[in-house]
Amino acid sequence: MGSLEQRSPTPSLVEWEYVPAPEARDLVRLRERYGLFIGGEEVEPLSDEWFASISPSTEEVLFEAAQAGPEDVDRAVLAARTAFEEDWSRRPPAERAKFLFRLARLIQERSRELAVAESLDGGKPIRESRDVDVPLAAAHFFYYAGWADKLEYAFPNRRPSPRGVAAQIIPWNFPLLMLAWKIAPALACGNTVVLKPAETTPLSAMLFADLCRQAELPPGVVNIVTGDGRTGAHLVRHEGIDKVAFTGSTEVGKLIMKELAGRDVGLTLELGGKAANIVFDDAALDQAVEGIVNGIYFNQGHVCCAGSRLLVQESIYEPLLAKLKRRLSTLRVGDPLDKNTDVGAINSRAQLEKIRELVASGKEEGAEIFQPECRLPERGFWFAPTLFTNVAQSYRIAQEEIFGPVLSVLTFRTPAEAVEKANNTPYGLSAGVWTEKGSRILWMAERLRAGVVWANTYNRFDPTSPFGGYKESGFGREGGRQGLAPYLRFEEVA
Ligand code: NAP
Ligand code: MG
Repeated sequence: MGSLEQRSPTPSLVEWEYVPAPEARDLVRLRERYGLFIGGEEVEPLSDEWFASISPSTEEVLFEAAQAGPEDVDRAVLAARTAFEEDWSRRPPAERAKFLFRLARLIQERSRELAVAESLDGGKPIRESRDVDVPLAAAHFFYYAGWADKLEYAFPNRRPSPRGVAAQIIPWNFPLLMLAWKIAPALACGNTVVLKPAETTPLSAMLFADLCRQAELPPGVVNIVTGDGRTGAHLVRHEGIDKVAFTGSTEVGKLIMKELAGRDVGLTLELGGKAANIVFDDAALDQAVEGIVNGIYFNQGHVCCAGSRLLVQESIYEPLLAKLKRRLSTLRVGDPLDKNTDVGAINSRAQLEKIRELVASGKEEGAEIFQPECRLPERGFWFAPTLFTNVAQSYRIAQEEIFGPVLSVLTFRTPAEAVEKANNTPYGLSAGVWTEKGSRILWMAERLRAGVVWANTYNRFDPTSPFGGYKESGFGREGGRQGLAPYLRFEEVA
């Protein structure tokens, strides 16, 4: 017993010296300019406007991308319409599947290049692009390739047919993965697409255009129009579209819904979140700490389903916080292309300002801030992993989506109180539950108003599992068999 008592609950930190382990940046051969991908070709924008895409970790200009104007969007929709009517919707489904398999395999073949591109353009750690974004993007194409010729089995007696031209708008936090979430099910169902990537992260979409050519995908099946929010607005307004799939902020989601009111255009919205990660006193604490860290510091917290509110059962508050703070001080913040990096750069200056403003409001409202000591690079956009304690439910940092590496810690005493606090948000995208009791997991999952509930894990994704929200987190599901439905029309059989 004596030796046990001497053991400190949290052993002191070992000092590790890391030498830099950079991934080769020249795996991506950047061009000076990337045009639009329309009708199977790269074309100059009719708008004759271009914008710079920068690396958020160095602020250097990487390349220029085209700013698609109304005439460009028009051209892209027309190309998609023609391809839909004359080719893609008429092909035997098994042939569509072959193209999807081909795209999946090409993503795998060019995975290192895609991972570097994603980290360079968007600032996320190479470890994440390499191990999460790119393999999951390939998995999505593989998965939906499998469904392409089995739609009759997915929806028996409902005679599914494709909707037509899908307009797809995606955000900057998982550029290639969100592209895959959108394009794979749309093509599998026989639709053609016009996709608009986010302004700050067009690179992986332009590389994907190259994959489409390599796969010899028929021209016009996939069209990519780069540009800022205006390009997205032109696309949504266009009369030639049959379906809109949007992932982004609740604010823009509401605008799109207004725009589509009264039109026969299908809509799915994947919007923001303010998820609760709930830790009960019987949970395995070290495991929970890893899950909390993964939940909020993964991808700098630029994750719609991030576990941004930690709810801790009061009896374990102190030991858990001690472990969590200690773990935070081991996170390595810096060069996204370094394989040792845990937390990369904030995606843009605008996002950094938004994070700073919300963190300042947290301090002002009376929460207590903790940030581990870490040296941030001088150039680029950076924010240290942050946690707030002494947070009231009414504080902005407990209510609003920060979309950054900032955790708000709250406490609870009973499971009912945990449910009440977890659901006390306008959002409803995801939640986490940490407990050893299986019955409690089920009890909680039944009551949490969240599209996804993770148990003793967090931020785990799989193409077979539907993802989507309640309330202001949007509607419709992506992933799984459920992810096919928004891309189909049904003719019910009596
Ligand atoms: P955002 O401003 O809503 O942008 C999302 C996309 O919409 C971008 O491509 C954007 O273009 C475009 N856009 C902007 N204004 C538009 C308009 N009026 N009409 C049509 N398109 C328009 O969101 P963000 O700031 O980039 O991304 C962060 C937000 O996305 C967060 O709130 C996060 O929770 C949410 N998100 C949700 C999910 C999910 O699955 N539920 C996943 C990821 C992110 P520009 O980038 O060029 O402005
Ligand atoms: Mg960029």
